[in-house]
Amino acid sequence: MKRAFITGVTGQDGAYLSKLLLEKGYTVVGLVRRQEAPDTAVSRLRWLNIANDVHLVEGDLTDLPDLVRLMNEHRPDEIYNLASVSVVASSWQQPILTAKITANGVLSMLEAIKCSVPHARFYQASSSEMYGLVRHGSPNEATPFHPRSPYAVSKLFGHWSTVNYRESFGLHASNGILFNHESPLRGLEFVTRKITDGVARIKLGKARHLRLGNIDVRRDWGHARDYVAAMHLMLQQDVPDDYVIATGQATSLREICRMAFCYAGLTPEDHIVIDPELFRPAEIDCLIGDPSKARSRLGWRATTSVEDTIMEMVEADLLRVRQKLS
Ligand code: NAP
Repeated sequence: MKRAFITGVTGQDGAYLSKLLLEKGYTVVGLVRRQEAPDTAVSRLRWLNIANDVHLVEGDLTDLPDLVRLMNEHRPDEIYNLASVSVVASSWQQPILTAKITANGVLSMLEAIKCSVPHARFYQASSSEMYGLVRHGSPNEATPFHPRSPYAVSKLFGHWSTVNYRESFGLHASNGILFNHESPLRGLEFVTRKITDGVARIKLGKARHLRLGNIDVRRDWGHARDYVAAMHLMLQQDVPDDYVIATGQATSLREICRMAFCYAGLTPEDHIVIDPELFRPAEIDCLIGDPSKARSRLGWRATTSVEDTIMEMVEADLLRVRQKLS
């Protein structure tokens, strides 16, 4: 039986990845920060009915001795580093903390692996945000990076640290350069979930308006369930490598609003308020990924359409708002 260690297990991807690995027969050990409300922390695992199946251990990605101890104690075969300050907007408010967790945290994890479990396989959650200001076409693994936020700069440090430990110390370390992926477990700070939650509130009479920033940005949106399968596939390869994971198609936020409002039988124009305060300091207009390498080498492809993802999210938010009302 294989043993996986997941940082960021309480997040969206951590929950879906845990479910996938448990279904494959893995023992899943998940790193959680010391919590004031441990019950709330596992709400995503509970949503997927796996809260009792993941072995939770306390620690922090910024604490190297903690990580070394945990590696020695649990001796995982596979390590998935998903922990991060993951909200781009808050990385401008907390750039130093972002670098500490999202950049240095990766280095701590790599050091802990090198010292304690050098034969374990490592996955690093890199991000399409690292491309930032891409001027032409769809980025792939060979496209130069031009990060446009403290989050993206920190992710780039983690990305190159992973490559560096692979090349310097022979670690089986891979980067997944993931484009946006959503689900009912997406945090409320993220715009797709803000939209589906807003739609549910408006539908059920709890709100009248939804305030949004620039809804003309276009992104490549997938479903988290599909994307965690790619993470697992990367660690099953004989040779570690870096892969872009994306759908290859872009949809604007305006279109996502239309999908969500129409699914609930509402007209977006009656409820959306554009607030210039919500525009990002340095925006990226359009980002579409080229997942050709993942398709040919991993046999991976996205299977859930953006429409189906948004419908699933609206359904889940309607359920949540109804539960709160009853
Ligand atoms: P998420 O829901 O925001 O989860 C982030 C996780 O990191 C949470 O479990 C959080 O724990 C944990 N964490 C934060 N700081 C930590 C620390 N110091 N020590 C230990 N754990 C810490 O993010 P996600 O959407 O699942 O994304 C997973 C990873 O993929 C992230 O690294 C993200 O940047 C990256 N990524 C995501 C996307 C996407 O579209 N979702 C795209 C590209 C890359 P708490 O519960 O304690 O806060």
